[in-house]
Amino acid sequence: MEARRYRDTRGLDTTRPVFSDAVVKGIARGGGLYVPETLPALELGEILALADEPYPKRAAIIFERFGVDLPAGRIEELMYLAYGENFDDGRIAPIEEVVAGMHVLELWHGPTSAFKDMALQCMPLFFSEGIARKQARGELTDDYLVLVATSGDTGKAALEGFADRDHTRIAVFYPAEGVSDIQRSQMVTQRGGNVSVFGVRGNFDDCQNAVKAAFNDEAFNAELRERHALKLSSANSINWGRLLPQIAYYVSAYADMVASGGVAPGDEIDVCVPTGNFGNILAAYYAKRMGVPLGRLLCASNENNVLADFIATGTYDISARTFVTTPSPSMDILVSSNLERLLFELADAGRVRDWMASLAAEGRFRVDRETFRRMREHFIGDWVTNDESLGVIARIFDETGYLMDPHTAVAWEVAERLRDANPVLVVSTAHWAKFGGDVYKALTGLLYDDPLPKDAAALSGVELLRRVRELAGGANIPKALAELDVAEQRFTAVVDAGKDGVENALREWLGERAVRQQPL
Ligand SMILES: *Cc1c(COP(=O)(O)O)cnc(C)c1O
Repeated sequence: MEARRYRDTRGLDTTRPVFSDAVVKGIARGGGLYVPETLPALELGEILALADEPYPKRAAIIFERFGVDLPAGRIEELMYLAYGENFDDGRIAPIEEVVAGMHVLELWHGPTSAFKDMALQCMPLFFSEGIARKQARGELTDDYLVLVATSGDTGKAALEGFADRDHTRIAVFYPAEGVSDIQRSQMVTQRGGNVSVFGVRGNFDDCQNAVKAAFNDEAFNAELRERHALKLSSANSINWGRLLPQIAYYVSAYADMVASGGVAPGDEIDVCVPTGNFGNILAAYYAKRMGVPLGRLLCASNENNVLADFIATGTYDISARTFVTTPSPSMDILVSSNLERLLFELADAGRVRDWMASLAAEGRFRVDRETFRRMREHFIGDWVTNDESLGVIARIFDETGYLMDPHTAVAWEVAERLRDANPVLVVSTAHWAKFGGDVYKALTGLLYDDPLPKDAAALSGVELLRRVRELAGGANIPKALAELDVAEQRFTAVVDAGKDGVENALREWLGERAVRQQPL
């Protein structure tokens, strides 16, 4: 099959990269995001036949249909590496019908117990392969250093994905006072010869600004290339290489729903997604465009509800918004970056340029009537308060024995409010044990703003999980989380906020190695 090419959402990049090149480049020239020039069309029979294949094979079939520029056998090999023993359930993305007509798609069986694994166990393999191929063609001599600023979960999922991947190194910076005990432990115990993790004195904004400043420091970039033969990359959630693996699980989920009798072949299911940067729900939209019988796409937000307002009104406005803290921090956004891809698909590059310019200048944009109408053909949104989301966790646990995390709870509540005759696939993005403190509050009837009682507050993150397990009658704690208290803490450095803090930390880490040392 001929390799499919990519264009960009702002129409400024004329390079038409193939998949591997789009993954290595990440963002297009001119600031736009890569989107496929054309989408493959799937027949119903082809979709349903996936139910007979193991998950890695399903993902490989979708990637091949997408014209990924690698031999089919190699794609399949990479998929078996991405989705194998590193997941604690052989089905990889299993579905559980929790109440009649409400099916939970569990995307957290990967190594970090959160849905980012679905993309980040996969994308670094293609990133590494893309670099190797460019080097072999003589188009590139450097390896890549991935820099990540994280407020918690993305950092760990990126570390797990890039650990010991050829031609890559990864350094993660987190706010030393801004992550939970579990999140910190997960990161500082990371295995791998090419990884490093640093706390930053300050909050997440300080951390992100410092990493951005290092990223944009031309002298520092030149120094890394000269002394260490490394280029910087961010591998963030706008990389097409993170979106494509997400499309695969929606196609796969529909096949599973039919195979289990949850829906008749060809009948629609609705999908409800707890949304932040709009990557997950956008993948559902692409799956629908490719022919998967998805009905309405329900976009669930927490108190940072800019997307719910946008879908209701056609105006995206952050000019007067402030950031609210919530029990679902991975959905706390103001600028939802993957929305740009949807706008491109509904309108065109010219209008996307205007809207993005308006967002940058005035903090708002308003789409035209036709674009709004087209969006409303597919999407409907709603949002949930902090206390409502904790209430849902307790109520559904009491009624069904199913324990969910606060992000999933937001989607569950929105799905209950908006559901009609179609079965709903509620997308579950984290294991409850990632957010033990808030789940503890939920199960003991506390409100989000209530402090934990003294005895619970004194526990380590893992001890608190065991307390929740007792409350919840033996609910499972993933092995990697249960063992965190005894895992070796490899990365204890805390550095100053600011460009120099980040750059000096990297110099010191990289200085320990000779240039181009192989293997790591
Ligand atoms: C990243 C994340 C989300 C939001 O997903 P988007 O693709 O950014 O919309 C929701 N829940 C959890 C647990 C996440 O980690």
